[in-house]
Amino acid sequence: MEKKRSLVFVTNAMADLEGLAGEDPLRELKERCECRIWPAAQGPSHADLLEALEGCQGLLCLISDRIDADIIRSSSELKVISSCSVGVDHIDLAAASAQGIPVGNTPGVLTETTADLTFALLLAASRRVAEGDAYVRSGKWKSDSDWGLASFLGVDLHGATLGIVGLGGIGQAVARRAQGFGMRVVGWSRSGDSVPGVENVEFSELLAEADFVSIHVALTQETLGLLDARAIGRMKRGAVLVNTARGGIVDDLALAEALAEKRLAAAGLDVFDGEPIGSDHPFVRLDNVVMTPHIGSASTRTRLRMAQLSVQNCLAGLEGRPLIHTANSEGLR
Ligand code: NAP
Repeated sequence: MEKKRSLVFVTNAMADLEGLAGEDPLRELKERCECRIWPAAQGPSHADLLEALEGCQGLLCLISDRIDADIIRSSSELKVISSCSVGVDHIDLAAASAQGIPVGNTPGVLTETTADLTFALLLAASRRVAEGDAYVRSGKWKSDSDWGLASFLGVDLHGATLGIVGLGGIGQAVARRAQGFGMRVVGWSRSGDSVPGVENVEFSELLAEADFVSIHVALTQETLGLLDARAIGRMKRGAVLVNTARGGIVDDLALAEALAEKRLAAAGLDVFDGEPIGSDHPFVRLDNVVMTPHIGSASTRTRLRMAQLSVQNCLAGLEGRPLIHTANSEGLR
């Protein structure tokens, strides 16, 4: 008798990636399992997730799907949760571990791509690229006399000190880029492990010394609000803050206040506390903020590799093999 195939709920059909890759990123999953695929571009709600996961052994999800303890406890047959992301703060890891469910993620394949976007934001914020672009488009640059010696003055990267908060894969990739730009690099990490070309400093020292601060820690209970009003207040006057890690690590309202008062020169942000932000958010009114809509890993090649890795993690979990990357390995021990 043929063995019953596992049932997997997939929260996104990945149809856009199929067009780019020329093949369905979910092909192998569809060949080896029964796939229940959420049909809409907008992801499932909490109630939809609860219903769709009934009888499923696998879940393949995105960062926009909130997989809380309620969902995990209600899905009694679940054997694996695989997220097409490196960050897993949208999944209740403790609840998954308590049920013995491995949670797969996709580190490594998006490291360089996210470091590239971090540098794009560092440069765009410090050299006022978005402001300049808006000025040209608006038609305000009409004659030679509109060009001034002191127009659009920014902050130099070369010779400046970059402070990296969190020296994981992406933090280290940003450090390598900064060395090429002639920056001094200081870094703080929980483990204190040494990284080539980076001077390890205390968190308070980093805030006091850095002309640029770039955030690369995971969002956890311990890093939530790490850059709160007090920490922002301890940054150098005229410094630039970049966050491509997660909203919630930075207190966005305190940051907006520091930017409005020009205590900080500028910020480059890919992530926000509560995404998407509304058009009435204080950042929207500030010229010295450059924003992107959580696109750190958004290159064609990287998104395809993330999709492949998340499929492989899902298949491994369903077949009782170790996942390629397990985000809750400590909790499962
Ligand atoms: P990683 O290699 O796992 O590094 C994670 C970093 O977070 C490490 O420095 C780790 O410190 C630190 N960390 C974890 N828990 C901590 C805690 N409780 N207290 C202090 N530090 C803690 O991950 P990565 O690939 O560099 O990615 C970093 C983060 O970037 C991800 O978690 C994700 O949220 C975000 N990200 C965003 C995008 C985007 O689209 N904007 C794309 C990719 C990633 P230790 O080294 O001391 O353990």
